[in-house]
Amino acid sequence: MEHDLYDIRNVKNLMTTFGLSFRKEFGQNFLTDKEIVCAIADMCASTSDQTILEIGPGIGTLTQELARRYKSVYAIEIDKGLIPLLRYTLEDFKNAHVIQQDVLKADLMALWEQEMGRDRVSVCANLPYYITTPILLKLLKSEVPFESVTVMVQKEVADRLCAPVGGKDSGAVTAYFAYYGRAEIMLDVPSDSFVPAPKVDSCVIRLHLYEKKPVVPTDEDLFFKTIRVIFEQRRKTIQNALILGFPELDKPAVAEILERAGIDPLFRGEKLDLPGFARLSDKIGPYLEKA
Ligand code: SAM
Repeated sequence: MEHDLYDIRNVKNLMTTFGLSFRKEFGQNFLTDKEIVCAIADMCASTSDQTILEIGPGIGTLTQELARRYKSVYAIEIDKGLIPLLRYTLEDFKNAHVIQQDVLKADLMALWEQEMGRDRVSVCANLPYYITTPILLKLLKSEVPFESVTVMVQKEVADRLCAPVGGKDSGAVTAYFAYYGRAEIMLDVPSDSFVPAPKVDSCVIRLHLYEKKPVVPTDEDLFFKTIRVIFEQRRKTIQNALILGFPELDKPAVAEILERAGIDPLFRGEKLDLPGFARLSDKIGPYLEKA
């Protein structure tokens, strides 16, 4: 028997029957607009013969549409309470597999190699907004060759991800993601498409991942740390931001690093482009080894 998860009364009844409430701490805002759910499911992969990784299936609304369209779906859900409900709503979808786990702790490479059989895989998710950036970074750093990543995020985050690096709307996330690919806004989603309705506007974005990264920093972790340090002190000169962010470096060392990277010490680091961040972190590295 199929369960209509687009009827808000039905959704609330199901939650009550299973003794559940919408958990704010897990970012539980469930989609109930059929047109939007189907549009997301349609756009997330180019062919039906591939596997989909879903993060946070909730009560299974998007999962059902994905299972209808694609070979198989693996859905990772943190909330133990939702598992019996998901078993019920997905009982007719033998190609949908639910994994109860915190996605941030999951070994995505092992999941892809052992469960998905190294199949062609795309990501599709209505993400919990409280951990959007950590989840996206986890996906990108996993090295799983995702064909595409299509996710619902808060509109403000979507705007940052799509902003040019070094521009006035950029942030640390802008630079992080520009290293892996290009983000594109696919769909604006009004808040009344969810139950309960979130207080913020939402967007579906697509990340087009590069086969070859645009820069090759010597130490990737240091490259990421340099970006974070600069944006934590974005109103300060780059010299002061580095002194605060790398306490193991003294002022003369920072001055030398900047000279070697060809960057004016009074420059605002938030205006650096991606090659600028890579050049800077490459010059910082040897000084940290000495410190
Ligand atoms: N996909 C459903 C939908 O569109 O209706 C639910 C989306 S809801 C915005 C986010 C979902 O992610 C919730 O089911 C929540 O419990 C789950 N979630 C939150 N944190 C998570 C984590 N760390 N790992 C896995 N799932 C998580």
